[in-house]
Amino acid sequence: MVFFDEAKIHVKAGDGGNGIVAFRREKFVPFGGPCGGNGGRGGHIFLVADAGLNTLIAFKRRQHFRAERGMHGGGKNKQGRNGQDLRIPVPVGTVVRDAETGELLADLVADGQEVIVAHAGKGGRGNAVFATPTNQAPRFAEKGEPGEERWLRLELKLIADVGIVGLPNAGKSTLLSVVSAARPKIADYPFTTLTPNLGVVEIDNHTFVLADIPGLIEGAHAGAGLGHQFLRHIERTRLIIHLLDGASANPLVDFEVVNRELELYSPRLAAKPQIVVLNKLDLPEAQAAWPRVQAAMNRQGLPVLAISAVTGQGVPELLRRIVNLLAELPELEPFAVPSLRSGLRLRAGVDEEPIPVLRQADDANIFEIERAGPQFFRVHSPRLERLARITDWDNDEAVARFQRVSQAMGVDEALAKAGASLGDTVAIGEVVELEWQ
Ligand code: GDP
Ligand code: MG
Repeated sequence: MVFFDEAKIHVKAGDGGNGIVAFRREKFVPFGGPCGGNGGRGGHIFLVADAGLNTLIAFKRRQHFRAERGMHGGGKNKQGRNGQDLRIPVPVGTVVRDAETGELLADLVADGQEVIVAHAGKGGRGNAVFATPTNQAPRFAEKGEPGEERWLRLELKLIADVGIVGLPNAGKSTLLSVVSAARPKIADYPFTTLTPNLGVVEIDNHTFVLADIPGLIEGAHAGAGLGHQFLRHIERTRLIIHLLDGASANPLVDFEVVNRELELYSPRLAAKPQIVVLNKLDLPEAQAAWPRVQAAMNRQGLPVLAISAVTGQGVPELLRRIVNLLAELPELEPFAVPSLRSGLRLRAGVDEEPIPVLRQADDANIFEIERAGPQFFRVHSPRLERLARITDWDNDEAVARFQRVSQAMGVDEALAKAGASLGDTVAIGEVVELEWQ
């Protein structure tokens, strides 16, 4: 059985800054050489595994992430500043997929591991770089490339930090439902009438995962058992809330009964630290039982509190107590996760220039021509599509440069062979539609 937390987020890397057209002004030279600087690249977006997080609940509040754009170039060959990269922290164990294709992008298995999920657009080049012996004063520059954007699906196998045990009717389900900010889905649960429940609890900027362990006792009584998978999951909890029914005839006897069954059912679970909680303090029976329960637990050296799951009395104190206890208890190893898909590279350092992991190396001059309709052709070419995105179509010189490149690649010739004639429409990928001349 696996408990999943899921989230969907949208990431948009920063656009590249534009290159600009500028010329030097020098004494006695009315029209100096070109000096338009390059635009800076935008910011990349990374996901970074952070051992301090244990749920995806933060993404219920925020779904959209955008990195800074690159600054435009300036005169005097001034390079535009790069946009800042954005690093989004996610829990260790987060599996990252492209939401549309379902493609596995990364398993972030270790603290500090990171992966680029959206590449920044490159900065456009300024006119200075286009000067040649035959064109010493180019009057065009490239625009910045748009940053990548996509929807991602994040999945996290949840490990319950805290389990609630207690006799039927103690109020386990009620407590879970009143403290949960979110109720994760349960996948692959084998058929049973006893449904375990998980809740994500948030308090004072901390989160922990709480499991209602129904039927641990009920199931043991019935001889049904809950299956090894459930047990394995629940045995990973670090702390147990032993919930007592304050309206019961004798909560201290219940306490012994549950502990004995716990010992029989799972010695590992029985050995976990417990916090004892008397529930239903809104009822007079519970109020009457409290002094005895408190004294008995104090004698055993166990932390003990009284609450009413229904009115909420004592519940925040309980949650804070749990957070404090968890901070003192050792962390558990996360579930083993499959190794990285080959070809996807992760890096741990942050200071080197990021490795493009999602972009295909442009296989320079390869292209395909599709007859998309009558008098309508579409050219598929990573190189030309990229060039089309950074071409300033309002600038004749920039357009002429695009034409030179496409001609050199043999695209014009191929179009002619495919039957294109003057005035037909030629689309470059999905970027731009041109009239063929
Ligand atoms: P579980 O079997 O341990 O999951 O117990 P449930 O959460 O189903 O609760 C059993 C019954 O006790 C239900 O009728 C609840 O409404 C009731 N109950 C739970 N907590 C409280 C409480 O704090 N005060 C009172 N008065 N009733 C409660
Ligand atoms: Mg229940």
